[in-house]
Amino acid sequence: MNSITLPGLIDLHTHLRVPGGEHKEDFATGTAAALAGGVTMLLAMPNTTPPLTTPEVMRSTRKTAAADIHCDVGFFAGASPEHAALLPDLAPYAVALKIYLNDTFGPLRVEDVPTLRACFQSWPREKMIAMHAEKQSVAVGIGLAATYGRPVHFCHISRRQEIELIADAKSRGLPVTCEVTPHHLFLTQEDAARLGPLGDMRPLLGSQDDVDALWSHIDDTVDCIATDHAPHTLTEKYSDSPPPGVPGLQTSLPLMLTAVAQNHLTLERLVELMHHNPRRIFDLPEQEDTRVEVDLTPTTIRNDQSLTKVGWTPFDGMEVAGQVSRVVLRGEVVFEDGRVLASAVAGRLLP
Ligand SMILES: [Zn+2]
Repeated sequence: MNSITLPGLIDLHTHLRVPGGEHKEDFATGTAAALAGGVTMLLAMPNTTPPLTTPEVMRSTRKTAAADIHCDVGFFAGASPEHAALLPDLAPYAVALKIYLNDTFGPLRVEDVPTLRACFQSWPREKMIAMHAEKQSVAVGIGLAATYGRPVHFCHISRRQEIELIADAKSRGLPVTCEVTPHHLFLTQEDAARLGPLGDMRPLLGSQDDVDALWSHIDDTVDCIATDHAPHTLTEKYSDSPPPGVPGLQTSLPLMLTAVAQNHLTLERLVELMHHNPRRIFDLPEQEDTRVEVDLTPTTIRNDQSLTKVGWTPFDGMEVAGQVSRVVLRGEVVFEDGRVLASAVAGRLLP
């Protein structure tokens, strides 16, 4: 067996759907899918129901997670006009702050300058601010990073115009970083037409030119690969008003290994994008004696191997270069041969 060993991967962008969306995913199923994808630490997004915008919701969500997680989990606090004054009280429970400048799943949105000022002035400087910003909203985020002299991380950058703007900002020495998702690297608008609702997410899939631009910046401007794991049930996806989002935790590493096999990037760069850079940018703790063993035998992604509660992936049927065979977390084998072996609480909460 041709195999390699990687450090535990870090996914900065997941939606584990607790509280309020437990029929789509929960902490146990989401973190099981994470281990199956070689992810041993992840950050969960705040656009839940209710959203993670108050200390009360944050405390109860963390309590639920503590009893359920198979890998280490941290949370984003959500920025909102209604609860902007609570940001300092929210910070102790969160790894970072998430600001939604553009439309996505759920009601969390910041469209007014006073709330943006409150975020940049009152969120602790030692904790990151991440933004969902598309097109010209990226320029708003870069302007805020420059104005307040503090880092901004851009989520799921998907367009040529966005990655080129971030490259310009970096060349001026501005403190900005960004992540790209595997679906924006491997799928285009043509796939969206083929997949229908199963290829619908925010940001929408781009053109081949957008995809080419992301790949051409994979060795410099792109800092991290993050999944934006956003499960919805097939019933919801095939309803009259399908919600945007696709699962991604389990398929991210197999896809990126395929890109390595196709010489789009080196294995060393993959480890930077999926471990070192996320850890450095969000100042995440080291996981001692933790590793991911990967079998590099070509294989096919199949829906029936999904450990996410929704049981489907937009990559069903795709040939990939390998898959995770075993995960060791802090010295304990927690995943082997397609199954989670861990006790339910092998994961730890961050911070
Ligand atoms: Zn997201």
